[in-house]
Amino acid sequence: MRRAPARPSLRIGIVTLAPEMFGSVLKAGLIGRAIRAGLLEVAFANPRDHSRDAHRRVDARPYGGGPGMVLMPGPVDAAIRQFAKRGSWIVGLSPRGRPFSGRAASRLSRKKQFVLVCGRYEGLDERVCASFDEEISIGDYVLSGGEIAAMAVLDAVARLVPGAMGNASSSDEESFAGGLLEYPQYTRPRVWSGKRVPAVLLSGNHARIEAWRRRRSLELTRRLRPDLLLARKSSKV
Ligand code: SAM
Repeated sequence: MRRAPARPSLRIGIVTLAPEMFGSVLKAGLIGRAIRAGLLEVAFANPRDHSRDAHRRVDARPYGGGPGMVLMPGPVDAAIRQFAKRGSWIVGLSPRGRPFSGRAASRLSRKKQFVLVCGRYEGLDERVCASFDEEISIGDYVLSGGEIAAMAVLDAVARLVPGAMGNASSSDEESFAGGLLEYPQYTRPRVWSGKRVPAVLLSGNHARIEAWRRRRSLELTRRLRPDLLLARKSSKV
């Protein structure tokens, strides 16, 4: 059995009112393995534990009126401080944040630690957002809480922690690495439902296979995500 390293490569703190939502995500698959191998540590802080209210309330009506409730700044800030004492990078999850990307995942995976702050209800009091180092959105839609967004970030980052993926080169060839979508993949059987695996993949000629994959990767990106090619071009200018 491999020995767990003395110190995990990455520590992620999660501020959430619903830590129970993360249960199976932390046990299964790559994230579970990375935690068990001691490569990744995930800890929680619940703003409710910092409420000064007899009923442990953490939300209140918005000043100025309007629907719903807003998370009060005090309990959220106190929960963040549980981790920030260690000088963590603080990431708020919000629909207004910068769209999450492979590049952001790679940047976060190189940190020693960071904190993900999940909002709920109508969101967080603006004064607590002022202490964030960045805000991330996982898409132009509104979720009922930041937990599912945090899980998406956690998963994308955990795969990039050194040693977490069985084959370290897997992530180099995946979609978005190098600004392209991945080439199409095939496995057994060679003929399925009358459809054949492209002959070049059975040729054993690695140079031809590589050239074919590169071509298909470019074709797919042109057809499905032309915006990636434009971004790639402008980053080279
Ligand atoms: N009133 C807010 C607005 O219109 O922007 C939406 C609040 S949402 C119901 C509650 C929480 O879910 C947010 O504070 C945020 O943490 C999280 N959330 C919702 N959509 C998200 C998204 N697309 N990306 C990241 N987090 C999101």
